[in-house]
Amino acid sequence: MMRNAVDLNLFEDFKIGDNGLTVSHLQYANDTLCIGKATVDNLWMMKALLRGFEMASGLKINFFKSSLIGVNVPGEFMSMACDFLNCSEGSLLFKYLGLPVGANPKSMSTWEPMVESLCGKLNSWGHKYISFGGRIILLNAVLNSIPIFYLTFLKMPVQVWKRIVRIQREFLWGGVGGGRKVSWVKWKSVCQQKANGGIGIKDIRVMNVSLLAKWKWRLLDGEKALWKDVLEGKYGPCKESLLVGGIASWPRNASVWWKDVVRLEDFGGQGWFNSELKRKVGNGVDTSFWMVNWCGGRSFALKYPRLFSISNQREAMVGDIGVVTEEGLVWNFSWRRRLFVWEEELLLSLMEDLEGITMSNEDDVWRWNLEDNGIFSVKSAYLKLEGLVLLEDLWGEVEKRVFANMWDSPAPSKVVAFAWRVLLNRIPTKGNLAFRNVLPPETSLLCVMCNRKEESALHLFLHCDMAALVWLKLMLWLDCLFLSPPNLFIHWECWSVRGRNKKVKKGLWLIWHTTIWVLWKARNDTIFNGQTFEVDELVEEIKVLSWRWLLHRTHSLSCLFYEWSWNPMFCLGR
Ligand SMILES: [Zn+2]
Repeated sequence: MMRNAVDLNLFEDFKIGDNGLTVSHLQYANDTLCIGKATVDNLWMMKALLRGFEMASGLKINFFKSSLIGVNVPGEFMSMACDFLNCSEGSLLFKYLGLPVGANPKSMSTWEPMVESLCGKLNSWGHKYISFGGRIILLNAVLNSIPIFYLTFLKMPVQVWKRIVRIQREFLWGGVGGGRKVSWVKWKSVCQQKANGGIGIKDIRVMNVSLLAKWKWRLLDGEKALWKDVLEGKYGPCKESLLVGGIASWPRNASVWWKDVVRLEDFGGQGWFNSELKRKVGNGVDTSFWMVNWCGGRSFALKYPRLFSISNQREAMVGDIGVVTEEGLVWNFSWRRRLFVWEEELLLSLMEDLEGITMSNEDDVWRWNLEDNGIFSVKSAYLKLEGLVLLEDLWGEVEKRVFANMWDSPAPSKVVAFAWRVLLNRIPTKGNLAFRNVLPPETSLLCVMCNRKEESALHLFLHCDMAALVWLKLMLWLDCLFLSPPNLFIHWECWSVRGRNKKVKKGLWLIWHTTIWVLWKARNDTIFNGQTFEVDELVEEIKVLSWRWLLHRTHSLSCLFYEWSWNPMFCLGR
């Protein structure tokens, strides 16, 4: 109906740019948006159309829920128009498909509902009873669900990102809101993948940019769509601006959204997106020979600036220069003058690059290097950005191997997470507390288990007499002796050596984790409850706890405690 009215010149629609593109309405599910010039004629037509729609469809239009929004329209006209159409006047901050339209993504208030809902989601699970491992899973699950709608459209300001990270941290290490626990591991480390010493929490800002990048891909993609025409009408040739990236010029009235999409390259360093784009030439009609990266790693203009500067064909397409003849593809170059000898050599090198190129009848298309099928994916973009802005390279081969394996241990996740913090030296030992200036000045820094050395993670879990004896007795129990290594990573490796298969390995890892846990508990009970412990007592507790955990948490072990206590390797290998 609307289209008819426009064709018959009964409704004057909205003009975008100077290339004749107009929009009269947008429709999606139950929502309809009619757009037109603010004229009395249009109001009459709108009323007639809506009434006609009611009569034809038998549906009733809910004028109470409808609103009229004026953009640069005088107030008198708006109130007259609202009376006439019997609806309320809306402001530009209305919601279309649940998304705030016209909202400024740079303002905090736009993001408030999302932050609230994130907070609510994390609160609602009764987080007090969720294990550390559960929290990790939940954090990523929540990020992957609710706010994605926002994150797909709007670029998040840094303050919002900081707030969300704070919520995430508080949830991970304790309660949401309330409770000022020390976050022992810095956020960047938490976001590393497990094999790199982190726990694989997704960073919401990197996710945001990866999701926005999809728009860029869709703009470059050949597929036709109204929204692309709208952008072209408003901002001119989009693809060019997108490929030039940050230095593109845009009209003064460009929306924040558009600027954000064009400036996507600024996040994560120049070229993170464009460098992964490659033009696959088919018929060569739509691909610039010099300007576009279509053969080799970069554009020929960048690779052979000299040749480019003396070319007569700077604007030429691949298909203009390459001509298919009976002998195959021939490249017809045209230069402003005769080439010098050294330029001839450059040309030779260029010709070598072009060797093996073939053309077909298909259209030229963009390919995304990071996916085998050549099609952009948010996941691959996240991984790339993660590598650029998040990745830390702190660990050697041994450490990485330990980090990669330790989360496969069947021990409870809080126990594994604690051992992870021990390996990072991010636990509240006296040494660490003193370093952070949170101990009263008179406090002794000596280890309470031996009263001989300053308490550090390395001492407490490896070199302390108490720990060394506990490990020794366990080694004898497991029939696996080795000399005390310089650090816990190597200790873990020596410890796992006897695991012939994954099942035995997992059992050994669990005993290791249990030992760390029991030693820490004993240390705390000594400090805070004044208890004292014998080595044999601790060893016995480790045996009981590891047996119980293995029995309940894996379905592969079935032995009685006395069997376990007598020959654990036999029980594990059975
Ligand atoms: Zn000690």
